[in-house]
Amino acid sequence: MATAASARVYNNFIGGEWVDSKSGKTYENRNPANTDEVIGHFVASNEADVNAAVDAAKEAYKSWRLVPAPKRAEILYRAAEILVQRKEEYSKDMTREMGKVLAETRGDVQEAIDMTYYMAGEGRRLFGQTTPSELPNKFAMSVRQSVGVCGLITPWNFPMAIPSWKMAPALVAGNTVVLKPAEDTPLSSYHYVQALVEAGLPKGVVNIVSGDGPDAGAPLSKHKDVPVMSFTGSSAVGRIIASACAPDFKHVSLEMGGKNIIIVMDDANLDLAIDGAVWGGFGTTGQRCTAASRVAVHKKVYGEFVKRFVERVKTLRVGDGLDPKIEMGPCINEQQLNTVMSYVEIGKKENAKLLTGGNRLNSGAHAKGWFHEPTVFGDVDAKMRVAQEEIFGPVVSVIPFDGFDEAISIANGVAYGLSASIYTKNVNQAFAAMRDLYTGIVYVNAPTIGAETHMPFGGTKQTGNGHREAAGAAIDFFTEWKTLYIDYSDKLQRAQIDNN
Ligand code: ADP
Repeated sequence: MATAASARVYNNFIGGEWVDSKSGKTYENRNPANTDEVIGHFVASNEADVNAAVDAAKEAYKSWRLVPAPKRAEILYRAAEILVQRKEEYSKDMTREMGKVLAETRGDVQEAIDMTYYMAGEGRRLFGQTTPSELPNKFAMSVRQSVGVCGLITPWNFPMAIPSWKMAPALVAGNTVVLKPAEDTPLSSYHYVQALVEAGLPKGVVNIVSGDGPDAGAPLSKHKDVPVMSFTGSSAVGRIIASACAPDFKHVSLEMGGKNIIIVMDDANLDLAIDGAVWGGFGTTGQRCTAASRVAVHKKVYGEFVKRFVERVKTLRVGDGLDPKIEMGPCINEQQLNTVMSYVEIGKKENAKLLTGGNRLNSGAHAKGWFHEPTVFGDVDAKMRVAQEEIFGPVVSVIPFDGFDEAISIANGVAYGLSASIYTKNVNQAFAAMRDLYTGIVYVNAPTIGAETHMPFGGTKQTGNGHREAAGAAIDFFTEWKTLYIDYSDKLQRAQIDNN
C-alpha cells in the first residue's frame, strides 16, 4: 500500500508529453475505503496548464481532422483491445481510487471498451444524407464535419466510462480533446488516455489536465479556442459552465442530476421489484446519476414490499470493494458522506420513517473510510426534500401511492428527468408509463440503472440541456452538419423560383 511518501506522481499529458504543472503544485488522491492509502500525487493544474493543453490540441487538430475517419477509428479499435488486456488491473485501480466494488469497476472499464469499439465502428459510418435536388442537374448532400478542440469535464462516479463516452466520439469525428477529469478519480482517466496513446494516437490529439474545478475546469470552459464543451456533473456546476460558454455560443452538452424513481404496481413481481430496488438504490453506493433514490409502491402491496425490501437492505455487506464478499463500498469523500448524513437528518425532521440505516460506519473494518449504512426511509411524502433533492448516496425513500395516475404524477413531480422505471405485468400500464414518464430513459421491469452504450443517454428538465450522449446521438453533438449543393447545369438556377 502506497503512502504519501511512496506514492507515484502523475503528470499532465500535453502535446504528447507527460509534463509538470506550471504551478509546481500537486494534490493527493486517497482511497475512500482506506484513507491511509495514497493512490497517487496528481498535478494541481492552473490556467497556464490549460492554455498549453488547448494550444497543443489546436495545433494537432490541423492534421487530425484530415486523417480519414476509418484510420482514426483503427486507433480507437486498438485502444479497446489494450483495455481488454488490462481490464482487471484497471478495474482494481478504479476500486482503489473510487470505492465501488470490483464487479462494478469491471463494468465501468467494460463500458469504456464497448464505447470505444462502438465509436471505432462509426469510423466507417459517420453517415450523412443524400437527397434529390428540387432542380434539374443539381446534386444535394449533407456531410458531418469536425468542430475543433473539445473541452471535456467529467465526474468521479464513472471514472473511465464517462471520459470514454466523450473522448471516443469526439476523436472518431476528427476533433481533438482536452480532458479535465474529476479530482477524486484522475487515475482511471489516465489509464484510458494511456491506452489511446499506446494505440498510436498522434501527439496533441488527446490532452489531460488534472486539478480542481475552479482552477482547471473553469479556464477550459471559458477558453476562446475551445468551441465544444461536454460536461457531466452537478446541476449547480452545469449552470456555471453553461454561463461560461454562452458568450461564445459554444456547443455545450450538460449531463446533470437525477431523482430517479422505481414504480411498483400492485400486480408487480415483488421478488423482481425488490432485486431491482436494491440494485438501483444501493449499487455504486447510490452515487449514480441514474440511482433509484425513490421507490413508489402501490398501497395494496406497500406493507409486504417494505418488509421484504428492508430485510434485504439490512443484509448488504458494506466495506472495501476489493473484497469479493462486499456488496457496497464507501462514499467517495468526506464531503459526500456529510451530504448523506445531513439528508438523513433532514428526512428525520420531515417525519419520514427511518426503517433501516441512518448512521455513519466508522469503527472496525470501516474505521479508515467514508462509509455509511444503506438507509431506507418509509412513508415518505413525495414533496419532502428527501424525495425531491438529489442525495447521491445510499439513501432510498419509499413513497406509498393509490393508483397509476398518482404514481406518474409523483414520478414527474421533481426537477429532474433522467431515468424512471415501472414494475408491472399489465401491458397497457407499461405502455402508458412509457408514454407519460417525462424522462430521457424509461425501464420496464428493470431498475433505473443499466444504460447500454449504443442507446442514447441523457435526461429532460434540470438533468440536461437537450443533448444525448452515447450511440449516434454523441456523433451529432461532436460534429456539425455541412450541406453541399453541386450544380452541373452550367446555368444559374434559382431554388423556389425557376422550378415553379
Ligand atoms: P460531482 O458532484 O459529481 O463532483 P461536480 O459538478 O462538483 O459534480 O463536478 C463535476 C466536474 O466539474 C469535476 O470534474 C469538477 O472538478 C468540475 N467542476 C467543478 N466546479 C467547476 C467550475 N466552476 N468550472 C468547471 N468545472 C468545474
